[in-house]
Amino acid sequence: MKRIALIAHDQKKAEMLAFVKEHESVLAQHFLLATATTGKIIAQNTALTVKTYLSGPMGGDQQIGAQIASQEVDIVIFLRDPLTAQPHEPDITALLRICDVHNVPVATNMQCAHLILSCLGGVIRRSA
Ligand code: PGA
Repeated sequence: MKRIALIAHDQKKAEMLAFVKEHESVLAQHFLLATATTGKIIAQNTALTVKTYLSGPMGGDQQIGAQIASQEVDIVIFLRDPLTAQPHEPDITALLRICDVHNVPVATNMQCAHLILSCLGGVIRRSA
């Protein structure tokens, strides 16, 4: 079981929900954590259980970053909005940095997110 962090900026939340629904059967086999609003949207619209942290602008990115630094996260799906300035830009940079420090795979766009989930599905099928 992998621990997968899910974070989406406001302009990307619809994409995140569609992505999670598409991969729901795979994601159901893993431990999911998310920032507050992203997690709430996922929990309300799927059968998935999600541990939520604070909203990103309120410190949620930092909380998840701390989990990454503590080796508590295996994969990060972080659908950030590259076209809108965010009040918590330093936290976003720090989150991406800590993923690289700890060699944690992080997807910041949909194609990469699908690729990672496809691999995960493949690994699960092979080991089943
Ligand atoms: P949210 O936080 O899921 O609470 O919206 C994500 C973010 O904006 O960083």
